[in-house]
Amino acid sequence: MSTRQTKTRFAPSPTGEIHLGNLRTALFNALLARKEGGCFLLRIEDTDRERSREEWVQALLDDLRWLGLDWQEGPEVGGPHGPYRQSQRGDIYARYYDALEFGGLGYPCFCSDAELALARKRQRAAGQAPRYPGTCAALPPDEAQRRLQAGEAASLRFRVPRGETVAFDDLVRGPQRFASDDIGDFVIRRSDGSPAFFFSNALDDALMGVSHVLRGEDHLANTPRQLLLLRALGLDAPRYGHLSLLVGADGSPLSKRNGSLSARELREAGYLPEAVLNYLARLGHSCGPEEWLDLDGLAACFSLQRLGRSPARFDAAQLQRWQKQSVERLDAASFAAWLNASRTGALLRERVPEAQRDAFLACIRDNVVLPAEALEWAGRLFGEPPAPGAGEKAALRDAGPAFFARAAESAGEDDLRTFAKRLGEATGRRGKALYLPLRIALTGTAHGPELARVWSLLGPQRRRERLQAAARAAGEAHP
Ligand code: GLU
Repeated sequence: MSTRQTKTRFAPSPTGEIHLGNLRTALFNALLARKEGGCFLLRIEDTDRERSREEWVQALLDDLRWLGLDWQEGPEVGGPHGPYRQSQRGDIYARYYDALEFGGLGYPCFCSDAELALARKRQRAAGQAPRYPGTCAALPPDEAQRRLQAGEAASLRFRVPRGETVAFDDLVRGPQRFASDDIGDFVIRRSDGSPAFFFSNALDDALMGVSHVLRGEDHLANTPRQLLLLRALGLDAPRYGHLSLLVGADGSPLSKRNGSLSARELREAGYLPEAVLNYLARLGHSCGPEEWLDLDGLAACFSLQRLGRSPARFDAAQLQRWQKQSVERLDAASFAAWLNASRTGALLRERVPEAQRDAFLACIRDNVVLPAEALEWAGRLFGEPPAPGAGEKAALRDAGPAFFARAAESAGEDDLRTFAKRLGEATGRRGKALYLPLRIALTGTAHGPELARVWSLLGPQRRRERLQAAARAAGEAHP
C-alpha cells in the first residue's frame, strides 16, 4: 500500500479573473488535502505569454487568501519543488524534452497551421475524428536535423503508442477507457518553444509529487494523453478526478451571462468568505450537515464519494442563504467592521450621523444580507424615505388620514409602546392594523427592523413629518 502523502493542487492560468467554477475546483482540492492532513499546492500555469498577466497572478493569490484557501507549497511560500510558475521552469522542461527525443518518443513536426487545418478538414469530410495524420512521424532523423538547422520552425510531438487501451479509475466518474489509436500524436512543445498544456501540466504534477488532481470535466479527454506521457517519462501519475460542470440556472455552462461572479465581484458586493465556502462546498458535493461549517468542518465532511457526476447548478438564492447565516454569525464589532470595509462604507459613514451609528447598526442587524441593504436603510431612515408603492399606499388609505393625523400629534412621545397604546385607544386599531400602517408611514415599506428601534432612531421631528406626509397620502383619492 502506498504511504504517499496526499498532495492536491490548484493550477490556474492567470488569464483573467477567477470565477465561481474555478474557486470551487480550488476549494475541493484544498478540502481534500486538509481532510487528509496533506498538502495543498498552488502552481501558476502561465505558459501562454500573450494572455497571462502579472496582475491576474496577484489577483488570484489575493482571492485564494481572501477565502482562506492557503497553500502550503507554491508562490510566495516556496517549497521543495519550485519554481511554482511554469514560465520559470523552462530548464526543467528542456531536460524532459531531450529525454523524450533521445528515446524516439518525441519528434519535430514541421507542419504549418494551414497544413494541419487542411488535414483536419479532410478527415472531417471523410467522417473521421480529426487527429494528427502523422506527416512528420516518419521523417528520417537526419532530414529533420537538416531542416532544424536551416532554421525551419518546428513543434515537438509526442509519439503516441498504437493499439493500446489507456484505462484509469477516475476519482469521480469511475472506470474510464480510451483507445490510444483515437489519440493523434500531440504537440508537447510549441514552435515558439513554449510548453504545451498536456506536457507541462502533467510533468509538473508528477515532479511536484501531486497525488490527487481534481479538475473540471472538460479535461477528462486530456487525461489519457497525460498518462501516456508520464508513463513514457517513467514518472508516477497522480490520480485524476473530473468534477462535473457548473451550469447556470438556465442549464448552460456558468458564465457571466447566467450569473457567474468573479471572486472580486463577490468580495466587492460584500459576500463573506465563509458564505462563499459554505455554498461552494455544497455545489456538486453533498456535504452532509446542512449547518454552517468552518473550513475544518467542511474538510471533515468532504468526500470524493460525495461528488456528483451530473452538472451542478448555480443557485443564487442558496448563496444568499449562506451569506445571511454568515452575517448572522458576526458579532457587533465584526458586523460594523464588515460594513465599514465594504464598498458602501464611506457612504454609510456619510449618511448615518456618528452619534447614531451604533444604534443604527443594532437596528438593521437582522435586516441586512449585503452592505447595499445597509445603505438602503441608511437612506430610508436618515434621508428621504422612498415613495410608497401601490400596495403601501393602499395600506395608508385603509388606515385613513385621521389615524395618521392623530399619530402625528403624539410623535414627540419617545417610547413607542406608550405612543402606540394611546394611538390604539384613540383610533380603535390594534396589533397589525395599528403597526403596519405606522411602519409604512415611517419607513415606506411593510418590512424592516424592529419598529421601536426605528422609532427612536428617527427622532420626534422626522417621525412627525413622516406621519403628516402619510396623513396627506392617506387622504389622496384613489388613482
Ligand atoms: N491551467 C489549467 C486550467 O486552468 C489547469 C487544468 C488542470 O487543473 O489540470 O484549466
